Parts: sequence; structure tokens; C-alpha cells
Amino acid sequence: MSGIENAKKMSKQEVLDKIAASGILEYGLHHETLSERIRMAEEEAQEERLELGVVAALNNADTDGVLLEVLKENPEKVTGGIAILGYALGTDKLSLHIPESAAELADLVKDAAEAENVEIVTGLVNKRAEKGSVLMHMITAAGLSDVLEDSFVAGIYVSANGAELKKVACDTKLSDIVDLSEAKAVLAGYRYIRPETAAALTVGEAEIDNGLLRILTEKDCIVAETDEKLTASRKQSCGRCVFCREGLLQLQYMNNEIKEGRGKPDYIDMTKEIGEAMEFSTPCTMGQVSAKIVLSAVELFEKEYELHMKKKTCPAGVCFSAQTIYIDPRLCSGCGDCADVCPKDCIDGKPKYIYMIDDFDCDRCGKCIPECSEEAIVKTSGKVPKLPNKLTKVGKFRKR
Ligand code: SF4
Ligand code: SF4
Ligand code: SF4
Repeated sequence: MSGIENAKKMSKQEVLDKIAASGILEYGLHHETLSERIRMAEEEAQEERLELGVVAALNNADTDGVLLEVLKENPEKVTGGIAILGYALGTDKLSLHIPESAAELADLVKDAAEAENVEIVTGLVNKRAEKGSVLMHMITAAGLSDVLEDSFVAGIYVSANGAELKKVACDTKLSDIVDLSEAKAVLAGYRYIRPETAAALTVGEAEIDNGLLRILTEKDCIVAETDEKLTASRKQSCGRCVFCREGLLQLQYMNNEIKEGRGKPDYIDMTKEIGEAMEFSTPCTMGQVSAKIVLSAVELFEKEYELHMKKKTCPAGVCFSAQTIYIDPRLCSGCGDCADVCPKDCIDGKPKYIYMIDDFDCDRCGKCIPECSEEAIVKTSGKVPKLPNKLTKVGKFRKR
């Protein structure tokens, strides 16, 4: 029998008592008991005369969505958990939020949601608009179904290095599920940790709040990885709060400038200042947590950042230093469009002659690439073919 079927055979108070007795905790970035969360929402709804509701979602800060696997695998558990709480609280204001980046999931969970009268909403949870509702992680909702089926087992969901998501006992050592021997850094949840720190942690201590566990080796660039994460957060932020919107914009801009070899000496201090201010001045987890990645990056890997800024060197060979941009002499038609946009003024040539990039001055910004209608401009980390070393008429270049 399903959890919601069991719940409906009990009184509302009996369901609430069962939830309290199970000790089930809110999943994700908040760790209070679900009972405490219910109590706080009830108080808020009463004080402000708001309608009590139940909302399940990922944490707003979660841009990776690996925990959505639980929803995909068993939508009935999640919608059932929402319905159980709705029943216990006597409300039919029930909703399930799906991130915009995974909007296609709405179709998959539609039947399960309809069966429990749960509304599917696409997008982040607007905490202000949902005042008076119990906000819970969708993993908490799935766990609640298990509680009512008497099958709940506490644990942490982990996808290690992109592998299948698994529920792991909290006291499992991190070193038992990933090989740390070649690790330069460990991305655990929303921040990096050093391998030696990771080696001493259990899964329950490692704050893998979004299911993400990834080993970064010497082949991975911390600056480039951080750039990806900040870009994803910027895209996902709803932009309502100045600190989150502007903070993420600034953090991502500075990190990207460092990645491209244009970092300025005060960027590290500014990153710390903005990141810390965001944590305390934003209402939802997106603002509170998304700076953690860059704060941990500049704190633990300051040397790697300095190499990018001062020496324009990427130790992992991922950023600018490892790449070359050149013009394929067989394809260039000598139009000069690329030279017009180059901010470094480092593309030489004249009409009807093959244009050439001065590798010394080129900072690999890539602005010239989309300008070329002949697709003659190539960015590569591989071998560069023989190129002309003097002005050569279009069609006259011969490899020797
Ligand atoms: S913190 Fe960010 S995501 Fe959250 S409400 Fe404010 S702007 Fe939106
Ligand atoms: S835009 Fe392309 S075709 Fe035109 S000069 Fe530059 S490389 Fe050659
Ligand atoms: S990559 Fe940037 S700096 Fe280099 S040639 Fe193209 S536009 Fe100029």
C-alpha cells in the first residue's frame, strides 16, 4: 500500500505524530526536522493570516539537477509525499516546482501529479509569494512517502563523477566511493574541498546537498570550472534581488576575465567581499549559496588564480595558454572583416591577401571567429598547420 493510502487511514494528528517520530530531516541545504519546518510554516500562516500550503522543489541554488533522477524514477513517491503533508495539514494548496532547465519533466510527472491534485509549476520557488507554505525539498517529499510506508532509511544521494545517482549511508567515507589519489580538488555539493580534507569526511559530513560529487585532477582548471558554475547560477537566478542579480554578474565577470587572462589584482578581494555580502543579503538559497563555489576556489586555489592573472598561465592547459587561434590560409578570402573587430589590433593583412594573426598579441578572446563567413578562423589546442609568414595573395599559399 502506498504512503498516501496509509496516511488516509489515519487521523491527521496521527500522521503528524508519525512524521515527528520518524525524525525525518529536511533534505538539501536546510537540515532541521520536517516537524520543525511544519511548525514554523503553521505559525507564519497563522500570524499573517495566510493560507497554509505545501510546496516541494529542489533548492533554488541547484543548477545541476542530479537529484531530479529521484523524481524521474518514481514521481508517485514525490507527489504522494506532498499529498501526505497536505492531508495532515488539511490543505489542498499543493505544488511541485520543476526547474525551467528541466521543464520537459512536467510531462513525465503529469499523471502522478494529477492523481494527487498537485499543481506543477515550472521555475524557481518565490519564497515571498509562498509565505505560509511548508517548503520542502522533493527528496524530503519522497522520504515522507517512505515514512508512511514504514520503509524510510536515512541516507545521502550521491552521483560520483557523473555516475548513476545512489543513496548512500551517511557514515560512508568519501574515500570509499571515489578515488582521491589523483585528486587536486573535490567538488562536493556547492563548494570545493581539498582532497586531504575530503579523505577525513563521511558522506554525511561532506555537504553533498545537491547530490554532486566530482573529482578534479591536474587536468581540470579550477578557474574554468568555477566559470561554468557561476554562469549556470546567473542563468538560473530570477534576478529579483539586487544582491543576487548584480553579485552574480560581478562574480562571473571577474572570474571570466581571470580565465581569459585579463584579471586585475583587486579581483580576488572584490570576489570575497561580494560573495560574503550575497550570503547574508539574499532571501533564497540561490543568493546564499551560489557564491560558495568561487569563495572556496579563491581561498583554496589562490595560486592557480594568480597564475592565470599574473603569468597568463593555466596549469591544467585548459584556458588561453593552451589554445591558439589561427587563420586557415586555404579558406581566407581576404575580406578583412576579422581585423575590423579585433580589440588587440593583432590581425594583419590587406584586401585580397591572406590575413594573419599575430600570436604574441592575441589574447584568444575569440571575437574574430564569428565574423568570418568563410569559417577560416580556428581555435585549437592541437597542432597548428604551417601558416604564411609574409603577405600572400589569396589562393597563392603553398605548404612546403
Ligand atoms: S536570491 Fe536570487 S534567485 Fe533568490 S529570489 Fe533573489 S534574485 Fe531570485
Ligand atoms: S574574416 Fe575570414 S575570410 Fe575575412 S580576412 Fe578574416 S579570416 Fe579571412
Ligand atoms: S582572438 Fe581576439 S585578440 Fe585574437 S585575433 Fe581574434 S579578435 Fe584578435
